Amino acid sequence: MKKIKLALHWQIIIGLVLGLLYGLLAANAGWLEFTSDWIAPWGKIFINMLKMIAVPLVLISLINGVSGLKDIAQLSSMGGKTIGIYIVTTVIAVTIGLFAVNLIKPGKTFSEEIRAEMVVQNEAKVKSTEERASAQQESGPLQFLVDMVPSNLFYSASDNRNMLQVIFFALMFGIALIIVPDSAKVQPIKDFFEGANEVILKMVDIIMYFAPIGVFALLGNIMVELAGEDPGAAVEILTGLGVYSLTVLIGLALMVFAVYPLALKFLAGFSYRDFFKGIAPAQLLAFSTSSSAATLPLTMERCEEKLGVSNKVASFVLPLGATINMDGTSCYQAVAAVFIAQVYGMDLGLSEQLTIVMTATLASIGSAAVPGAGIIMLAIVLGAVGVPLEGISLIFAVDRPLDMCRTVVNVTGDATVSTIVAYTENELIPHPVEK
Ligand code: ASP
Repeated sequence: MKKIKLALHWQIIIGLVLGLLYGLLAANAGWLEFTSDWIAPWGKIFINMLKMIAVPLVLISLINGVSGLKDIAQLSSMGGKTIGIYIVTTVIAVTIGLFAVNLIKPGKTFSEEIRAEMVVQNEAKVKSTEERASAQQESGPLQFLVDMVPSNLFYSASDNRNMLQVIFFALMFGIALIIVPDSAKVQPIKDFFEGANEVILKMVDIIMYFAPIGVFALLGNIMVELAGEDPGAAVEILTGLGVYSLTVLIGLALMVFAVYPLALKFLAGFSYRDFFKGIAPAQLLAFSTSSSAATLPLTMERCEEKLGVSNKVASFVLPLGATINMDGTSCYQAVAAVFIAQVYGMDLGLSEQLTIVMTATLASIGSAAVPGAGIIMLAIVLGAVGVPLEGISLIFAVDRPLDMCRTVVNVTGDATVSTIVAYTENELIPHPVEK
């Protein structure tokens, strides 16, 4: 008899919905301590497992991918394309965000009293965001290149400190594997990485057995944390920021439901339904974890096994994308910056809006793929157009839910670009998508 197995996205949706329901119940019943003692740890364990697998996966998969390339020329053609498309999608995302916020003008209806109250309430948070942002900014123009090159691979890899440095090492190792003259000698190493890649993808499958429970715990805990001691007050703040949140959501929805489907259709001849079926579990996980880095293992597995992106392309394009391509974050930064300016009665002209396009693109590249990174880099965007930094205090309350949504877009964007690059490189292997 055939065992009936629920598709992964349904399993995650069930965990998510139950988590939301539990969170609502717990927040209203005041089960704060119970939730943090008995529910939250399961979410943490799940995130830890995802992080645990991320570095070995990127290292092994990328070495395996690069060593399978025909020659170095294929790598540079893939690299150029990937970075080019990543930049274009990010600029489109910022532009959409700017259009939405300029049309809807969510800041114009924002009440003066709530603004004053929020600035006072969130003073400490603004200060720490400012400090973290200025630490990021105090660096020379070539610092990003310096940051890419690890002085010690184990240091970069430990605690998932710097994925770009891990990528750098893996690329160099893979390139060296291709150019070693006596290929017979390195064949066992290539075979090793090929086998290890299979094993590590299986580990991702095993971790995913745990996904419904992990997602349940993450969502339950987030709801309780958001509601805090006073769920009534939380609801009031959320409705106050409703129009702003809606503007961000419209921008994000346009990316997911218009830009990516069109790009997939015209640049890769890929139907969005198939794409969606394949990638949905990764999108749901992105929503639950708010971290594209934690979602990366599943994004890679789904792109390879369900969308048919070859390991060569997926292992290169996706880890790079998780680190530097954040369309959702950049769209959000554009909306947030103009929203805050509107609340402060500032009218941003064309040159300021163009500055936002530039800085939001760069800031999203520089944002870490972890929860809450986008709002820190937002400080840099605000600084560039002269909008008061304390304005960030207005949007803290809704940052986490919006973070969850923008992370979905970040991950969807990476998967879209990997499909397009794979198609143009003849590396898209037709695959049956799981029903
Ligand atoms: N949480 C986002 C991510 O990991 C980054 C951000 O916008 O805060 O993709």
